[in-house]
Parts: sequence; structure tokens; C-alpha cells
Amino acid sequence: MTDSAGTAASLVIVGGTVYTPHGPRDVDVHISDGVIIGLVDTKPPKGTKVLDARGMYVLPGAIDVHVHSRDPGFPEKEDFGTLTAAAAAGGVTTVIDMPNTVPGVDGAGIFEGKAALAHSKARVDYGLWGLMRSSSTAEQLEGLARAGAIGFKAYLGYAFSISRKQVLYSPDAEDPDLEAPPDYGTLLRLAPVVAALGLPLVIHAEDPGILAAFSRPIDSYADVLASRPPEAEAVAISAAAAIADSFGARLHVAHLSSALGLMAAEAAIRDGSGLTLETCPHYLWLTERDFPRLGTAMKVFPPVRTPADRDALVDGVARGAISIVATDHAPHTNAEKSRPLGEAPAGSPGVQTLYLSCLELAKRLGDVWKAPRWVCEGPAGLAGLAESKGRIAPGFDADIAIVDPRRDTVVNAPLMRSRQKHSALDGFESTFSIVDVLVRGKPVVRGGRGVGAPSGRMVAPVTATS
Ligand SMILES: [Zn+2]
Repeated sequence: MTDSAGTAASLVIVGGTVYTPHGPRDVDVHISDGVIIGLVDTKPPKGTKVLDARGMYVLPGAIDVHVHSRDPGFPEKEDFGTLTAAAAAGGVTTVIDMPNTVPGVDGAGIFEGKAALAHSKARVDYGLWGLMRSSSTAEQLEGLARAGAIGFKAYLGYAFSISRKQVLYSPDAEDPDLEAPPDYGTLLRLAPVVAALGLPLVIHAEDPGILAAFSRPIDSYADVLASRPPEAEAVAISAAAAIADSFGARLHVAHLSSALGLMAAEAAIRDGSGLTLETCPHYLWLTERDFPRLGTAMKVFPPVRTPADRDALVDGVARGAISIVATDHAPHTNAEKSRPLGEAPAGSPGVQTLYLSCLELAKRLGDVWKAPRWVCEGPAGLAGLAESKGRIAPGFDADIAIVDPRRDTVVNAPLMRSRQKHSALDGFESTFSIVDVLVRGKPVVRGGRGVGAPSGRMVAPVTATS
């Protein structure tokens, strides 16, 4: 399928039902040099490679805007090779990696080193977020933008170890090595810079003051919920939106987890805020009632909450108020996740189950074709990739997931491609299966199995100012 120069030769995907910007259509997808050149029913010219997709859905590859490769920094948890193998297996053809790798991605030099490392291992395309520290300068953010950062991430309430160059989840306020977490003052100081660059600012939205006031020993899942109340999410969203909106900065809320957070966000949007919202499959499928079954595999921050929270988020996604579903794929070692609830780190692998879980949710909501909006079109808009990825249309990259709607998949964590073999969705039953996956026309999965050498490329955003 590839010539000696490594570029994709002509290929036609025939016989499938194709998700197009105009709805599902039974057409053939013509691909040349990794780009979709037409959706037509004419016979492919002689010698063209043909991929038979009869009975299948032909979907745009998913873009997961929220993953943690752990690379560089924690190869025992994950690296770009295992992350992107899991992504490919799940029909995710682009991942956008968070900047809390080590060293934290707070400037152009570190960004470029990480991009080179990713290039050597990536099996799907990738973009990188830059890190906003409380000490970040306009020059640092501008440097990250020039290097190709998708945007910036501010971890409200999470400190930074100066000697280890690492974002820390459990800061010890007395430690002189720790730089204070970014706060609303940081956002206010840097919002004009973010606005001028035209890139999104992603926030981990839990108000640090509320978390500090409600901190407690964790012996049960009820303690987890009591220590991270939904008001913390709502307050952080309202405050950050007020700041971003005064300067016209783009704001994006990562991993929305609560009905209260959604209400706060929608109130801001009604008042004219341009903020965008993302939630994750674990908030759409799980509640506190699943803890006895799943244990620490479902320990994430912010936490999976009540059935009422889940229902509000599902409704938010169904209405389009939440435009993005991403995974917060955040592996820790099986040994780390085996610790007692209070000590086990928050986060679990998820990238491989994104598409399967969203197709299932969309189907149950009565319109399976909504899934590509949540995992392709919404994410492409956030990441500045809406002109090249996330759609099956002429001129777009041939990033494609071919899905069998007649064959079930039961999520089996020990068989997943992530380095870590646990999942908050272990045992989940999807009535779909991912069969073939193409990245820029090149197969990375065939018949459900990973194929080919790493050939992922970095993607950079196209913004109004670029
Ligand atoms: Zn995350």
C-alpha cells in the first residue's frame, strides 16, 4: 500500500455506509497520497487498491484531545508507542497529549524534545498541549505557540516541583521546592496573551480552596466524593469563564464531571461565554454504585459521581451542550492502582474504548451518527484541526475507522494495548467492533490487529491568528 517514498498510493474504500458532513451515505471513499479526494460511486481505475467495507460503517478516525502518554517521565506507566498502539486499536487516529510529562512542557525547547521523542514511536498522529505554570511568561506561551502547541493547560491547584520539573498532584505547601499552583490570578495575568495567540486554554476545573477545606482521610468512596464536591467544579468554571471572557480568550473545560458544573458552564454560555466543554466515557457510563465492582480502576479526579450527575452529563452530550468526549487516558501501574483507595493514584487507561463506548451511547440515544460529532468534529474544532481532520470529505486527511455494527466487543482489560491492563470500562459491552483503521490512508489496524511501523506525524493548529 505504500510506495518507496513512504507516501500512500491510491486506495478506494468500497461498499460501506460513510459518515459524511451531510449525513450517512452509501458511497465509496477515494484516497490519494493520504488525502480523501472524492466520495463517489464510480468504478476505481484499474490497479487501484480496494478495501472492502461491505456491511461496515466508514467513520472519521477519532481525535482524543485528552491523553497522558507519560512520555517522557514514567515509561513504566506508558509511552508514546503503547499509547498510540492502544489509540489505533480503538479507532483513534489523533491523540493530543497533556503537558504534565517530565520535564513539564512549559517552553519551546522542552516541547520540541517531546515532539521528537513522540515522532520516533507514534503509531497515530499526535498534537501536544503546553503547560501554563504560575510563573509562566508571555514569551514562554508565545514560544510554545510557535513550536506548534495545540493550546495550554492550567492545572488549578496542582503545584510544580522546581527540581524535578514535574506537576504534582499532592503538593506539600511547606516544601520550598514547590512552585505555587496556577490560580485565578495566573489566568487573569495570562488571559490577554492566550487571547492574542488564538489558542485554547484548558483548565482542570476544581477550586483549590474548596478542595483544601474538604480534604479528609480517604477510607471509602463516600470520602472521595465528600473530598471533591461538585461545587468545586462549578466555582472554578464560573471564575475561569469570567476571566477568559473579559479578554476574549478561548477557554475549554476538561473532564466535566457534575450536573452542577454543567449548570455553571451553561449559565456562562447563556451570558455569552465561548467556553467549550468536554466529558469522558467514565462519567457517561459509571456512577458511585460501580465502585464495589471496579475498585480503584474507577478512581479518577474529578470523581465519578451520582446517577443524577451521570444523567445530566448524558443529557448535555445528547443536546450538544457538551461538544467533546475525550478519555483523560491516564495510566498508572497495576501495582500503584492496587494500593488502598486513599493512596492509589487517580486515573486509568481509556483511549482504546473511546469510540466503542461513544458509538454505544449514541445508539442508545437513538442516533448512532452522533458519535463522530463528539469524538471527531468537536475535538477537531477545539484543536484547530477542523480543516484537515475529523471529517470524511474531499481534502481531509484519510484518517478512517471501519466499524462492524454487527459484531460485539466486550472490553477485556488484560487484552488492551496500553501498557496497563486495567480499565474503568472493564466488562463493558459494545455492539460494535473496530475492524480496520487508516491514518492518512495507511493501515494501522487490519482485521482488528495492529500493523505497520510507527509513522505518526505531529499536528499543529490552524488559528485565526496563524
Ligand atoms: Zn488529564
